[in-house]
Amino acid sequence: HSPRPLSQTDPFIRVENVSKSFGTFQAVKDVSLTIEKGEIFALLGGSGCGKTTLLRMLAGFEDPSAGRIFIDGQDMTGVPPWARPVHMMFQSYALFPHMTVERNVGYGLQHEAMTAAERRDRVREMLELVQLAPYAGRKPHQISGGQRQRVALARALARAPKLLLLDEPLAALDKKLREQTQFELMNIQDKTGVTFIVVTHDQDEAMTLSNRIAVMDKGQVRQVGTPTDVYEYPASRFVAGFIGAITFFEGVVESLGDTARIAVPDFAGPQATGTVQARPTAGLKPGQKVTLAIRPEKFSISRHRPEGPNVLAGVVRDLGYFGKDSLYRVALPSGGLVSVHAVNARRAGEAERVADWEDAVWLSFDPSAAILLGE
Ligand code: ATP
Repeated sequence: HSPRPLSQTDPFIRVENVSKSFGTFQAVKDVSLTIEKGEIFALLGGSGCGKTTLLRMLAGFEDPSAGRIFIDGQDMTGVPPWARPVHMMFQSYALFPHMTVERNVGYGLQHEAMTAAERRDRVREMLELVQLAPYAGRKPHQISGGQRQRVALARALARAPKLLLLDEPLAALDKKLREQTQFELMNIQDKTGVTFIVVTHDQDEAMTLSNRIAVMDKGQVRQVGTPTDVYEYPASRFVAGFIGAITFFEGVVESLGDTARIAVPDFAGPQATGTVQARPTAGLKPGQKVTLAIRPEKFSISRHRPEGPNVLAGVVRDLGYFGKDSLYRVALPSGGLVSVHAVNARRAGEAERVADWEDAVWLSFDPSAAILLGE
């Protein structure tokens, strides 16, 4: 396993067929990934899907049972955590309570070959980066949760790692602070150019923060893509359902051409044709069973029957009003429920929802809005 030079085409990180077993339990199963320099890359998945285990293998706290990990062109097999160009930031932030913010940030530099003045400058630079210079003299208990998170980040970045691993970095923050801190993290990443790998179970966080997301399930990577890829073009029912809200309809392919025609029992009824038009996807065959998946915001909702294909009649069962938009759950004659997210109309400057509880409504959607999943 001798180091080899990084070629132009080599990714910054290559995870090659990596598995990890604990006894007979396989926590990570044959994962392969590449990550480019300067990316914010999210490992996203539910509890126990293996994302932390994968992160710990990148850090060197766990050894893969099979497969190899390359960082910056170097095979990491047998390389201990401290010898890797990597820093891991833990969920708890692990700040020293008796040390000031400044000393916490400087702590990671104590073994670096630096003069005291250089160290002081570096700590200052990091505190300015995370906008905490005025708090340098405070102890962790004298600052807020969001500020503690930034101290941990400053400490992690002080040693100029090439790769920063963040395990649920925002989990301890409340919703508002979490959203604000997401943007701060992105700005800091942008300024430093350090590659970030973020473990999170929060799809919104992964969507907001990262350039690309690996969606994990039961130890496996189910899809890797940009936030748009995984949202608009999910590769499977699992990914479609995991990322954001969506309604599934079961159907059978009737015919294929410029548009696919799908027979969908939920769409059959006195006022509907039972056929849905959709954008065809590769590999579909007539007679095949398919799942039709439609995001809530892709539906139009109206009290009058609209023109065009893909029309569904239903009754408003549940309703949430949020000012600029409303969420509806519409019950179909078949018994199915459809989630709809619609912008409210404005009348005399006031946001007004399209329909009320128990109103009969029409739903429609453009053929290009339907995702066909043929599994
Ligand atoms: P969470 O979000 O809950 O932390 P995760 O996706 O990060 O979940 P991991 O911590 O990677 O999940 O764990 C994956 C699976 O491996 C879990 O079922 C866990 O119980 C198991 N596991 C993790 N570490 C060990 C260990 N040291 N010994 C035995 N089983 C382990």
